[in-house]
Amino acid sequence: MKKGKVVLIGTGFVGMSMAYTMLNRGGVNELVLIDIDENKTKGEEMDLNHGMPFAPQKMTIKAGDYDECKDAQVVVITAGVAQKPGQSRLELAKTNAGIMKDITKRIMTSGFNGVIIVASNPVDLMTYVVARTSGLPKNQVLGSGTVLDSARLRFILSDYLKISSKNIHAYIMGEHGDSSFVPWNHAYVGCKKITDIFRDSNRPLSKLDEIHQKVVNSAYEIIEKKKATYYGIGMSLSKIVKSVLDNDNSILTVSAYLKDGEYGQDDIYIGVPAVINKNGVRELLFLELTDEEQEKLNSSCRIIKDMIGDIVLG
Ligand code: NAD
Repeated sequence: MKKGKVVLIGTGFVGMSMAYTMLNRGGVNELVLIDIDENKTKGEEMDLNHGMPFAPQKMTIKAGDYDECKDAQVVVITAGVAQKPGQSRLELAKTNAGIMKDITKRIMTSGFNGVIIVASNPVDLMTYVVARTSGLPKNQVLGSGTVLDSARLRFILSDYLKISSKNIHAYIMGEHGDSSFVPWNHAYVGCKKITDIFRDSNRPLSKLDEIHQKVVNSAYEIIEKKKATYYGIGMSLSKIVKSVLDNDNSILTVSAYLKDGEYGQDDIYIGVPAVINKNGVRELLFLELTDEEQEKLNSSCRIIKDMIGDIVLG
């Protein structure tokens, strides 16, 4: 395995936003770009390479093919069909599941044995499809889950409370989509509970749900205004990849595999806080949920399970 080698499959808006973030941040030694649109991918290779003189470190960037996966540490999948205005993430499922199966078979034929990170939507289901098709240990396959949703939450809370988003420790769990939820009892500003901050400052707790709703709506709002969302997810993906490459044990709400009754679930990928290292998901960070939160997680999982039945096994 080559240290710091990443293969990106899908050089659209999301994939290239991640690639551009990586070039600016450093920490990746080699980035291979793959897409069915080979011409575009060659153009992306050239364009990114022309930024190299201003990058913090040298990074080999090239358009390539699936055999490049064999010695990669990480493969990121952002290929697929993007969400159309008014279309739910769930409606995308069928088409993208077929694309995931095809791509995963090609990755595995190369002899790949690193970590796969999936961003294609609906991400929890697509991660399940990739994990199942790959046959890799489940910790080596993860999805971007609610990492972006949690980042949006932190930004909106930061803006509302006028506190740096770096000091907002709040997580969105569940499906990357409409049925996500925030376990507010576990949300902190610095080292103080956010619910205590709201009480002490006479802010209504109902504002918290309003803020969560704003996060849920934001994907639809951005798509309506500019057709697609990509910078936020590009930076989220770059962070997840960096945590694997740096083996930094970051806590991120990736789409991780739950089994044997973990959070009351079995055989499903869903957004939960997890510790990320060189092996992918090192372990889950279990949070005690209220009955209401557990019910929300259950209903998130039911949505995914129904789709697994219809699309993956059907
Ligand atoms: P895009 O249309 O710009 O890019 C998709 C790319 O995939 C295209 O370049 C296309 O040629 C390529 N592609 C399609 N089929 C392929 C195949 N079989 N093999 C290789 N490449 C293939 O779309 P985008 O805006 O970059 O979005 C990509 C995916 O990311 C979508 O599924 C979208 O819904 C998802 N997304 C996820 C999140 C998240 O938080 N997880 C956020 C935004 C978008």
